[in-house]
Amino acid sequence: MISSCDRLEPKHAQDAIERVEVHTHESMWRRPLGATRYSGLSKRVTRTAHTTLPLDPTDDLYNLRVKTPAIALNRDNPHHTAHRARKRFGQNFLVDKTYIRRIVEAIDPKPSDHLVEIGPGQAALTRELLDAMQAQCAEGVTASLDVVEIDRDLVARLKTEFTEQQLRIHEGDALEFDFATLPSPLRIVGNLPYNISTPILFRLCEYEDRIADMTFMLQKEVVDRMAAGAGEDARGRLSVMLQYRYRVEKCFDVPPGAFRPIPAVDSSIVRLVPLAADRLRPKNEKFFAQLVTQAFTQRRKMLRKSLVQWIDAERFEKAHVDPQARAEDLTTEQFVALADCVAA
Ligand code: SAM
Repeated sequence: MISSCDRLEPKHAQDAIERVEVHTHESMWRRPLGATRYSGLSKRVTRTAHTTLPLDPTDDLYNLRVKTPAIALNRDNPHHTAHRARKRFGQNFLVDKTYIRRIVEAIDPKPSDHLVEIGPGQAALTRELLDAMQAQCAEGVTASLDVVEIDRDLVARLKTEFTEQQLRIHEGDALEFDFATLPSPLRIVGNLPYNISTPILFRLCEYEDRIADMTFMLQKEVVDRMAAGAGEDARGRLSVMLQYRYRVEKCFDVPPGAFRPIPAVDSSIVRLVPLAADRLRPKNEKFFAQLVTQAFTQRRKMLRKSLVQWIDAERFEKAHVDPQARAEDLTTEQFVALADCVAA
């Protein structure tokens, strides 16, 4: 008989994407053959059953089903006790060691780096980052990094695992954190909570001059938008607003099975490297941002229609932009040229 989940353990990552295996142990009393009632001769037996249940994130039992494997998979780690993943904080914890290692390799941390991790969670990346840095440290030197974490339960766990020297923990919302209080140039990393990833990216643009690079895990669809060039369907406001500041490099994809709970979406690793200080800058950054937003708000319209309030035929000609083009067709340089026509 299958009751609710006693213990859930995915057989392997691929399986875990669609189904979870459920084990139950049922205890019962069994009478000796022929006996009509229970007596001292009755034996207690345990029957073990298992089945697989389909994973459906809309299902009420989803969190219950996917919560436990995260703990089971990490039971070899003494720091892992039960933590119920909080949806409101976008908590999908990395558990696949191969991907954790690949991400740390992509970051390639050095002991001299000013590294800051957004959302360390249960320290899956933090631990490996510190280990990688510590391995390169001179004797007697302790590797360290800054972390910004909103969940106070997770902050408490981090404090039990790491010393103050290793981890400078900033408890609070990364969207409000003042990154200027940390020494620059900063290397910012993190498996970002998907629900706030775009606002965080825009917020970090304010610290562009203090940033050496950023490496993030994000929803694959968001990374595709960030990296999309002119003429690509995925191109949007995010692509233009990031690409005029950063070189955007998509590194590799990470499947849902690498996380617990298992997310409903694919993820990717992306690196952002600020362009040189003499990069192309619009004359008026605020207006440039307004123009890009307006162009993509009505992305199916031709620019001569969507930007009619600012750009006439003469300005389109001056900027060398086809008025019949759509927002996604324009390079970042063309957007700057259009904005500068008005700001001039
Ligand atoms: N780094 C961990 C990992 O890879 O397993 C956890 C990643 S989990 C996707 C996102 C983490 O960001 C969680 O620890 C969550 O509590 C934290 N978080 C969510 N919103 C945040 C915010 N606004 N500011 C700081 N941390 C936040």
